[in-house]
Amino acid sequence: MKQAVFLDRDGVINKEKGYIASSDEIELIKGAGEAIALLSKLGMKIVVVTNQPQVARGLCDEEDVKEINKKVEELVVSCGGKIDAFYFCPHHPERHHPDIPKDRMKYRIKCKCRKPNIGMLEQAARDLGISPEGNFMIGDHQRDIQAGKKFGCRTILVHAEQKKDSKKEDEKEEEPDFVCEDLLDAAHLIVSVQKMATLILAGGEGRRLRPLTETMPKPMVPIVGKPVLEHLIELNRKEGIKRIIISGSYMFDYIKEYFGDGSRFGVSIEYVDDGEEPLGSGGPLKKCEDILPEHFVVMSGDAITNFAIHELVNMHMQKKGIATIVVRETDHPEDSDIIEVDDTGRAVHFFSKLEKEKKGDMGNTGLFVFKKEALAFAPEKGNLEQDLLRPLIEKEKVYCYINTKYYIKDIGTKERYEKAEKDFSSLT
Ligand SMILES: [Zn+2]
Repeated sequence: MKQAVFLDRDGVINKEKGYIASSDEIELIKGAGEAIALLSKLGMKIVVVTNQPQVARGLCDEEDVKEINKKVEELVVSCGGKIDAFYFCPHHPERHHPDIPKDRMKYRIKCKCRKPNIGMLEQAARDLGISPEGNFMIGDHQRDIQAGKKFGCRTILVHAEQKKDSKKEDEKEEEPDFVCEDLLDAAHLIVSVQKMATLILAGGEGRRLRPLTETMPKPMVPIVGKPVLEHLIELNRKEGIKRIIISGSYMFDYIKEYFGDGSRFGVSIEYVDDGEEPLGSGGPLKKCEDILPEHFVVMSGDAITNFAIHELVNMHMQKKGIATIVVRETDHPEDSDIIEVDDTGRAVHFFSKLEKEKKGDMGNTGLFVFKKEALAFAPEKGNLEQDLLRPLIEKEKVYCYINTKYYIKDIGTKERYEKAEKDFSSLT
């Protein structure tokens, strides 16, 4: 089964011009054709789903809508893109509108296709063999986001700025997963997300968790009945990241045997052995450089979390920095690495835990997304914070996601492990 990108039409692909009733009015938004060409190359189905109440209003008929769609398609094809199918809803739910021509009354119904309903998406799924998982919906209205969510898509809101005022007071807002400037921006985001991988650092020996870690490596310690690492892999799959790279050394075979190629967990897993010599927390990034994609997530294999990774990815893509770090307020800044964050969310200074004078109390959580260029700074062997984050923050644009919502806890000591076990069982 194929995955799909569902697209709204007016205001997303072509310029919004009130009620469009003729193909002469069609003009593509700048970059829209190029965007669809990029999406076509991903091998995903491109499906337009559009409400066209003009038909119910008597401003044009179904044939005109088909003509207009044909024009849109021609323009997209001329840019190297392809649209696999168009679906439109010709209906409108109001029956008692004063100037409705008699012949249009059949369109004045409460249908199942008008977004935010998902009739058009369901029909497309049947017609084109679209998988229920892994799809995207791109639109410029709340109803697009609502329909996308209902169908289980990851949702992208575009041109959000100009729509802010037209929001109805009583409308129940659905939060989009991503916010992008326009369709081209959204296409770049989808390309990056589809290629994205997560590197899980699973090298920890877990000396402070002995005797538990005498028979298993730290990331395999169970929380609520399954290894921490398994929770992390499930989280990634749920967030749409299906490529996992695990780096490790201590009892690495234990991990490899448990997870295999990842297919049992709905992901693909590659293993990178740190080797005999310890590489520190930063070395594995350098070691994986050749196989990492353009943007990648890094997480620690010995911290349990329910973090919504897409929120971090969304911020990373919007801010366009070289890295985005998840930080949170710590109540023990004196013995933590602290990152000073300015009003724009940019990291401006790194204080190591050893420094006496620090500014602020934003502690690093060990969860990041990096652009590959950042690896030019990565040490062959060394500490991720001290040897990679510090120079990155000093020389490049690094942003911080301030976490207040999600649970992130490292299980490095017996006390923390027991606390995590207790906390996490109440979260799941
Ligand atoms: Zn309809």
